[in-house]
Amino acid sequence: MTIAFERQPLPLPGGHEKVLLHSCCAPCSGEVMEAMQVSGIDFTIFFYNPNIHPLKEYELRKNENIRFAEQFGIPFVDADYDRDNWFERAKGMENEPERGVRCTMCFDMRFERTALYAHEHGFPVITSSLGISRWKNMQQINDCGVRAAARYPGLIYWEYNWRKGGGSARMIEISKREQFYQQEYCGCAYSLRDSNRQRREAGRAPIRLGVKYYGDEDGQA
Ligand code: SF4
Repeated sequence: MTIAFERQPLPLPGGHEKVLLHSCCAPCSGEVMEAMQVSGIDFTIFFYNPNIHPLKEYELRKNENIRFAEQFGIPFVDADYDRDNWFERAKGMENEPERGVRCTMCFDMRFERTALYAHEHGFPVITSSLGISRWKNMQQINDCGVRAAARYPGLIYWEYNWRKGGGSARMIEISKREQFYQQEYCGCAYSLRDSNRQRREAGRAPIRLGVKYYGDEDGQA
């Protein structure tokens, strides 16, 4: 792996050395994974994202994450795609805007499973790549993470701000270097619907799945 700058070792909370990283996708987790690797942190990727719709998009995002994990020998846990449960929990919130209550439910659901797995498999710390995206509300994500970790004695949600110190820029840099698939909507059926509505209103063509990659001529972030 090429590290183009000096990184400072990350300070893990509680003096722990082992982390379960909830990953939402390869582009968001590339910088997080690289920062943890350089710090010598023993971490495992936990892929649990039942929100992603349709299945084709889910497979695309998951396989990109697996490709990166395999390249660097990072353990990868492929959790269930229980989308029926996700749709059940989203009932009544179909028309909520992004960063609203449906998203709180979505983060809660993903972190609850992450925390359970951490508790059952001896991980003292959990964290997530979700907060690195500038489209997300970091406080909303952190609140959900802390709430999930509080279900188990001693489990810590690591509220690290992955955007700081150039993290946001490196996220794009790594995505281009690795030519990750570039998704064009948050993930759920409702975000796909709303993104396509905005594109229609702006006179743009609807989203096409599986065609845009970082580093391509039209795949620049
Ligand atoms: S917009 Fe994104 S965070 Fe919100 S519910 Fe949909 S997939 Fe989850």
